[in-house]
Amino acid sequence: MTEENDTIFGKIIRGEVPANKVYEDDDVLAFEDINAAAPTHILVIPKKHIVNLFDAEEEDAELLGKLMLTAKNVAIDQGLEEDGFRLVVNNGAGVGQSVFHIHVHVLGGRNFSWPPG
Ligand code: 5GP
Repeated sequence: MTEENDTIFGKIIRGEVPANKVYEDDDVLAFEDINAAAPTHILVIPKKHIVNLFDAEEEDAELLGKLMLTAKNVAIDQGLEEDGFRLVVNNGAGVGQSVFHIHVHVLGGRNFSWPPG
């Protein structure tokens, strides 16, 4: 965990940058991705600044679990219960992480190939 959170998601958490929020509580925030890669593309983030899973500690286990359950609830709210949804967490620039505040992509509403590209 780092002291500063100068990422775009830090700014969204603090209300300095707008976002189309779909869920928020004391611990987590969910909002629409600005560049949707699927008909449903929601980002679920903790309010605590964790860079990615390499930065997560044992003490974050409950919070990480809450991200998963929030992703499920968001998917249900988005009408994805029948067709399902895909979660993606990019950990590191080498695999495509571009915002260094951990986030779970909730993707749905189209077909997805396997293995992912
Ligand atoms: P990553 O590539 O780090 O896994 O995912 C970062 C995601 O954040 C991308 O899908 C990108 O479209 C999204 N994103 C970047 N900047 C903003 C922003 O200012 N607002 C919103 N809502 N999403 C953003």
